[in-house]
Amino acid sequence: MVAQFFFGDLLTTGSGKLRTGIESNDQEENQQSAHEEAFRIGDEITHKGPILHICIHLSTAFISRPRRYIESMILTPEILAGLRRDTLVVFFTGAGISAESGLSTFRDVDGYWARYDPTQLASPDGFRRDPELVLSWYAHRRESALNAQPNAGHKSISDFQKLFQHAVVITQNVDGLHARAGNREIIELHGNLHRFKCFRCGQPLSAPCGEAAVSCQCGGPGRPDVVWFGENLDPGQLQAALDATHHCGLFFSIGTSSQVYPAAQLPLEAKRAGARVIEINPHLTPMSAMADLTIQAAAGETLPTLYREIHEALAV
Ligand SMILES: [Zn+2]
Repeated sequence: MVAQFFFGDLLTTGSGKLRTGIESNDQEENQQSAHEEAFRIGDEITHKGPILHICIHLSTAFISRPRRYIESMILTPEILAGLRRDTLVVFFTGAGISAESGLSTFRDVDGYWARYDPTQLASPDGFRRDPELVLSWYAHRRESALNAQPNAGHKSISDFQKLFQHAVVITQNVDGLHARAGNREIIELHGNLHRFKCFRCGQPLSAPCGEAAVSCQCGGPGRPDVVWFGENLDPGQLQAALDATHHCGLFFSIGTSSQVYPAAQLPLEAKRAGARVIEINPHLTPMSAMADLTIQAAAGETLPTLYREIHEALAV
């Protein structure tokens, strides 16, 4: 009961900080340190023998295990119950899965670009002020994305998509790694770095050799087809994401801080609609306490194990 107090209090504090806009997590580190502090407190209270980190939060079992334990069975009968090959499965991914491929997140950009405020590089106002700067930034990001390789987490999703008749990827990432891993049915909530559109009329544009120095027939300049600060998500993509979320039986929340709205509402929506929610993230998030299972580890080492266990469970 003491553990419940510590976790509930700190996680509520963390989840109270809602944000708008995209790709910006500058509050995340503060929240993560609060959660890590919570985890330490919970750890001291609940650490007994081989059973680690078991805390009860709002009557939801929240079980988190260190990395060395993820090679054995981690799925409980409760999570596997009712799972069939025709169960709709959703993989909701954020920057964490790309970080495992070596792509830095917006908040820890390296070297030269670190001197710029993210809104200078990724907003309509920033583009109006200095389009060359914004296009160079996106050329840099495209190059980084193309040099990165999909990891075992991305590839595992392809395996799941063969196992289940209907499995949808909803991603906040714009790097195209899911498609390169062979994933299908991908909803890109924040767009895609490798696509371009007209800044004025929105018409899709091609960009030779990956550069956006093209202009539209209307005379507007080309820009990357991503969602910038101050812009809304594509309503069609958001609706498709909500539809999948509301009808799925199993929802994976992978490498996402669950703090960037409206995307962050998806795990909550899935839970409310009755899906089992599994969170995979090296750090605790505002979602951790309400997930049916939280695994504090990388997707690349967790998803292949989960795939094997679910594959076996469905074969019985
Ligand atoms: Zn145009």
